[in-house]
Amino acid sequence: MRRFTYARPETPDAAVAAFAAAGAGARYIAGGTTLFDLMKLNIEQPGHLVDVTAIRGLDGIHTGGRRLRFEALAPMSAVAAHPVVLRDYPVLAESLSKAASQQLRNMATVGGNLLQRTRCLYFRNGPAGAYPCNKREPGSGCAALEGLDRGQAVLGQSAHCNAVSPGDWPVALTALDAEVEVLGPAGRRTLPIERLYRLPGDTPHLEFNLQPGEMITAIVVPKTRAGRRSTYHKIRDRESYAFALTSAAVALETSGDRITAARIALGGVATRPWRATAAETGLVGRRLTPETALEAGHAALAGAVAGRHNGFKIELGARTVADALMIAARRI
Ligand SMILES: Cc1cc2nc3c(=O)[nH]c(=O)nc-3n(C[C@H](O)[C@H](O)[C@H](O)COP(=O)(O)OP(=O)(O)OC[C@H]3O[C@@H](n4cnc5c(N)ncnc54)[C@H](O)[C@@H]3O)c2cc1C
Ligand code: SF4
Repeated sequence: MRRFTYARPETPDAAVAAFAAAGAGARYIAGGTTLFDLMKLNIEQPGHLVDVTAIRGLDGIHTGGRRLRFEALAPMSAVAAHPVVLRDYPVLAESLSKAASQQLRNMATVGGNLLQRTRCLYFRNGPAGAYPCNKREPGSGCAALEGLDRGQAVLGQSAHCNAVSPGDWPVALTALDAEVEVLGPAGRRTLPIERLYRLPGDTPHLEFNLQPGEMITAIVVPKTRAGRRSTYHKIRDRESYAFALTSAAVALETSGDRITAARIALGGVATRPWRATAAETGLVGRRLTPETALEAGHAALAGAVAGRHNGFKIELGARTVADALMIAARRI
């Protein structure tokens, strides 16, 4: 049992101050559904926990105005079941309802979901494990590159790490150009969701572009007509309670039978939520047919590099995009 201290502040400013006072070993904790797991595995060893769940007003879901606003502590299940989100932004609701289990979604927060760490088996094997992992212990090596890589990334990988970014919600948020609001010792700032995530490069242990002590306070999503014609399509080994092998978040705007705008982001195949802009551009001005949808799917996976056992993800990913496009197009 490792000892840690604990604080439960009641305002965002007090939380940031508590974190700063505790120093480098501090961690924020929200639903705890990931952090406690990693503490039990000895991968996370915080000296101090700043529990943010007593902060009032940080769990709101606001759907009026020109932007959707989800406060960081809103439970995943509440956002997934919100009637406006379900009706006008199915891609958001589905990305949450297809993640984890109902019990987990009741505990887990939409802010905490953005910062969950990889499910790479070698990473989760723990510090006393037999397998090296650059993300867990910088410079130690990567067991996955020459090991069992069926679940690993085919896009965005480096010679130091090919772990998949595991979250479903960040993929949907990427397709809709969401922004993340953070508060830290230097004040408030907003960053595009895409800038929150780093490629592994030669520093895979640095996963997020957050400064020490910064806490996520809200996620904002610009409203778009494409929201109604959207879906999150997730392929996994089991139909529930499993992470994505491949997934696609898509949203479409159409005029007559032509596509006027497309948004496509991929999950399960890359080291970070992956926006497929070339595939989006290639669809504009065209009719959506099974053939053009599959063409877009292949464009989305262009540049993918197979490892030893994960080459199937390239064709599966393309077909996931194609199916998602056809599902979204049928929505009014
Ligand atoms: C069995 C299982 C299956 C799962 N399946 C899926 C799945 O299919 N798809 C999927 O997307 N997810 C899945 N998950 C992950 C789950 O969605 C996450 O555990 C959850 O979203 C994390 O939210 P939380 O509030 O519990 O975060 P916590 O565990 O409290 O925190 C997670 C991380 O975020 C940090 N943190 C939390 N809140 C803040 C904040 N406001 N500001 C700054 N830092 C913060 C913590 O320090 C920690 O590092 C699964 C989890 C389990 C255990
Ligand atoms: S893929 Fe990344 S997380 Fe997995 S063992 Fe290699 S360095 Fe660690």
